[in-house]
Amino acid sequence: MSFSLPQLEYSYDALEPHIDARTMEIHHSKHHQGYTNKLNAAIEGSENESNDIHDILSGLDMTNMALRNNAGGYYNHKIFWEIMNPNKENVMSEGLKTAIDEAFGSFEAFKEAFSNAAATRFGSGWAWLCVKNGQLEVCSTPNQDNPLMPNGCGGTPILGIDVWEHAYYLNYQNRRPDYINAFFEVINWGVISEKFEQSF
Ligand code: MN
Repeated sequence: MSFSLPQLEYSYDALEPHIDARTMEIHHSKHHQGYTNKLNAAIEGSENESNDIHDILSGLDMTNMALRNNAGGYYNHKIFWEIMNPNKENVMSEGLKTAIDEAFGSFEAFKEAFSNAAATRFGSGWAWLCVKNGQLEVCSTPNQDNPLMPNGCGGTPILGIDVWEHAYYLNYQNRRPDYINAFFEVINWGVISEKFEQSF
């Protein structure tokens, strides 16, 4: 089996002005395509050729850098596009609302914890909202690592933000906190609620 670039369910300019069309086009058609191609090259001829992406990630040999970086890059960006979908109903479920309140105290406290994890990730990486042992947790990972990997922060990711400079530099330059705030304007809580329900 080989992987193909997941298609966006919306146009490159659909997230403007928060995320600009040029950034989206390069990020999807160049960066994500690159991770996808290199993932296929990394699994060619190995036992991973018949595994799905979850099995590849959970069974990963962390010293296999080509597979680690590109399986992570493939999976992380797939989630990223899904959770910014502007065409689906954007309503948070009662279940997710309750879980956020239980874990963080309030939505605002969650937003602060998540934004802080994203802002303080040194260099390139991701911040995540995960379901771990039935509870919500925020964590972050370097490079293209993710919570599903053997040394990851654990749990099932239901929301992730890419804080590599390629995700925001054209529009925000060094202003990562502004990009993080803008990201909150394009999050689709309906999609994340579905991921939350499916994680149990
Ligand atoms: Mn990226």
